[in-house]
Amino acid sequence: MTGPLLEVDGLTKHYPLVAGLFKTNVPAVRALENVSFSVAAGETFCIVGESGCGKSTLARLLMRLVDPTSGRVLVEGTDIAGLKRHELRACRRRMQMVFQDPYSSLNPRLTAGQIITEPVENFERLGRKQRNELAAELLSKVGLSPEMMHRLPSEMSGGQRQRLGIARALALEPSLIIADEAVSALDVSVQAQILNLLMDLQKKMGIAYIFISHDLGVVEHIGHRVAVMYLGRIVELASCETLFAKPVHPYTEALIAAAPVPDPTRVRSEVPLEGEVPSPVNPPSGCAFHPRCPLAIDRCRVELPPLVPMSDGRVVACHVRAPSATADMPLTSLGTSPLGSVA
Ligand code: ADP
Ligand code: MG
Repeated sequence: MTGPLLEVDGLTKHYPLVAGLFKTNVPAVRALENVSFSVAAGETFCIVGESGCGKSTLARLLMRLVDPTSGRVLVEGTDIAGLKRHELRACRRRMQMVFQDPYSSLNPRLTAGQIITEPVENFERLGRKQRNELAAELLSKVGLSPEMMHRLPSEMSGGQRQRLGIARALALEPSLIIADEAVSALDVSVQAQILNLLMDLQKKMGIAYIFISHDLGVVEHIGHRVAVMYLGRIVELASCETLFAKPVHPYTEALIAAAPVPDPTRVRSEVPLEGEVPSPVNPPSGCAFHPRCPLAIDRCRVELPPLVPMSDGRVVACHVRAPSATADMPLTSLGTSPLGSVA
């Protein structure tokens, strides 16, 4: 395979507030707006941003659990929108999901062994011996003892349940795992163990991750590249090294300032940025971040900043820090940032 494992092209999702209407101009939650990126095999691509910025919506669109309003998702070059039911099933084998709360996503009446072998049994019938062997193998891959296969989820700790969720995701040997806040509910020490497990599995099996988190410390620890989202849009996308060395978008800067050290013993909370995230039903004009942005200029209130490539390979959507050359832009608005030009 030469192309990217996953390509996302102009992905947009609006949830109409009035059900069943196909009219335009019905008020809608603009959960995701024109999001594009690609993920290579074996890569950890992180998505960060405050709660409500569209991260889970993006994950659901990638798995085609919901249909996009517009835009495309290509898996190994194939548009998943065009897939027939059995093709989609085959495609889903390549992509698995791990959720924040394994307890609510695992059937409480099934044993651990039944839970993790179920994905395989959806495709082929297993005999009792085969099933036990598979369960033992999967459990040991995620660092659990084979005896655990007889336990119910309620008889396991939070960390053990998350390992179980990962074991189930591994059962079909996927090339991509989407982890949506997969460690966010865990104690910090358990969190570190699960992150190490994920990185270990990546090394051994070459799995790519889309790792969704509101926690930048975790992302810096695990990620190769990172997309920062604000109100449904990517505002900055860079390698983790580049982004954490010097954030360019004022929103990225604020997020990083709120979580400065990648210290696993420090308890982190949701980002204490000034002000509220505006409503995605009525997003601010121009750059959606402008009401909270210390650098906002007039242009930010009226014109949506495009993602502009910078010399270090990142892309940034910011009129002040990454001005795009347009004919009608007043030259005086350049370089008026109190912090000076970053580029
Ligand atoms: P995140 O995972 O970043 O917290 P979500 O993708 O869950 O964000 O939500 C993005 C926005 O879309 C939020 O405003 C949320 O309320 C809204 N939303 C999510 N799912 C639905 C839905 N099924 N119907 C209507 N609005 C939704
Ligand atoms: Mg979410």
